[in-house]
Amino acid sequence: MNLVERVRQTALEQPEKHAYHFLGRDTTYGEFEQTVSRFAAGLQQLGVEKGDHVAFLLGNTPHFLISLYATMRIGATAIPVNPMYTQDEIAYIIKNGDVKAVIALDMLLPLVEVGVKVLPQVESYIICETGQDIGEKMNALSNDAKEKTKLFSQILASTQNTVEPVSVEEDDVAIILYTSGTTGYPKGAMLTHRNLYSNARDVGEYLSMTTEDRVIATLPVFHVFALTVVVNAPLLQGATVLLAPRFSPGEIYDLAGSQKATVFAGVPTMYNFLHRFEGDTEKFSTLRLAVSGGAPLPVQVLHDFEEKFKVKVSEGYGLSEASPVTCFNPLDRERKAGSIGMSISNVENKVVDEYGIEVPVGEVGELIVRGPNVMKGYYKMPEETANAIRGEWLYTGDLAKKDEDGYFYIVDRKKDMIIVGGFNVYPREVEEVLFTHPNVVEAAVIGTPDVNLGEAVQAYVVLKDNSTSIEELQEFCAKRLVKYKVPTVIELLDELPKNSTGKILRRSLKEIEKVK
Ligand code: AMP
Repeated sequence: MNLVERVRQTALEQPEKHAYHFLGRDTTYGEFEQTVSRFAAGLQQLGVEKGDHVAFLLGNTPHFLISLYATMRIGATAIPVNPMYTQDEIAYIIKNGDVKAVIALDMLLPLVEVGVKVLPQVESYIICETGQDIGEKMNALSNDAKEKTKLFSQILASTQNTVEPVSVEEDDVAIILYTSGTTGYPKGAMLTHRNLYSNARDVGEYLSMTTEDRVIATLPVFHVFALTVVVNAPLLQGATVLLAPRFSPGEIYDLAGSQKATVFAGVPTMYNFLHRFEGDTEKFSTLRLAVSGGAPLPVQVLHDFEEKFKVKVSEGYGLSEASPVTCFNPLDRERKAGSIGMSISNVENKVVDEYGIEVPVGEVGELIVRGPNVMKGYYKMPEETANAIRGEWLYTGDLAKKDEDGYFYIVDRKKDMIIVGGFNVYPREVEEVLFTHPNVVEAAVIGTPDVNLGEAVQAYVVLKDNSTSIEELQEFCAKRLVKYKVPTVIELLDELPKNSTGKILRRSLKEIEKVK
């Protein structure tokens, strides 16, 4: 039950097989395993021991894969962090996460100077070069910073392939993922080796991944969706990861075409961009499967994508606390549009009322999850952990319903539900209607305070061109929705606020409203 051991085995059995592709270069499982071993030994030489925490401020480059597998190999815990976070956000995680070593992209070198002053517990900074020569910048560091800073390439070049053996248990924490949570500061979800292994295995099997697969990894690797679906699952199955340093539709078309990709995984925004991009769809002719997750995939976008690319889109669902996947649409049975599919093997999903009792088929309740993928808890937050995991079940905070065939549907997040004069409105159903309008590119719906009705429905819309008026959009909704669900206010924007994974941030829209 260990990802690292499994990759070592693949390296022994098929050393010449390509583990990953990055910017025109292929790396075999044999090479990958050797580099991981050398880097693991290098980390040990820097004083990183079992149980220590190592933060990664990395993007989609091989440094991430090598650092992750090396850290897990020596029984240390990886804390992947979005490298685009602000200084304050990064410092909060490094402090809260008791980080001892940081592995960062070269563009973050200036932060080392700050870190040396305000984060004394960090003993080492490892800088990953991504192109330009940073020798001069390294020389310009203060003596204190210089002492703590090493280059990733130097560690690899100067280290022999001798890792001190460490016994890693299933229940040891492999990764801590800081998730935005609903309120306040982010919480660190602790995922064990068992959590990560079981979810990567179950997802890989459910999606029928084999050594023949070539999986596009354009989702940011520091996010759990990418981590399990496009990194760990393919590596566990001996497949090839096609690393894309960023998401750009044209580059994804080219990567898919030149590398004969078989699987694509993305968040709904990516699907929206890909199907609107004017490119040669033949480049996707080898694709056997596209998977969507992380946020609701509007049914209209799903149909448009399937029609254009002639490939089945399977929507799934997950959350950081569940490593992350709990549901996917099956490949061997019907794919139901708008549904997140069925429970994957070994994972149970249940829809319950406020007392934790399962509700009848078709009724809305909170989705709860049980299985080997459910986190150990939040780091140093026993109360939050006890609130999230009750009697082995993880309470997701998402409202869902199940149909008679066992397919689940996410209705919305519990906290995003709008109550208009006592009636429940789920933003998602209004967004789905807006998406069916041919001139709508993106839509997000929130509740705003209303003196008479408690809350009112407000929509933010991005249009293809300005040939549609707000009144026309309201009429369009009024024909398809009961009156209290029709947005009373619609604002047109050039784009919607999104997080680094591409999820639309309703929270930011609410903040804009508050400031007004
Ligand atoms: P994260 O922990 O960042 O992965 O966010 C998890 C949250 O994303 C879940 O609790 C859901 O609210 C949302 N989510 C993930 N997948 C879907 C989906 N297919 N449909 C709707 N919401 C989703």
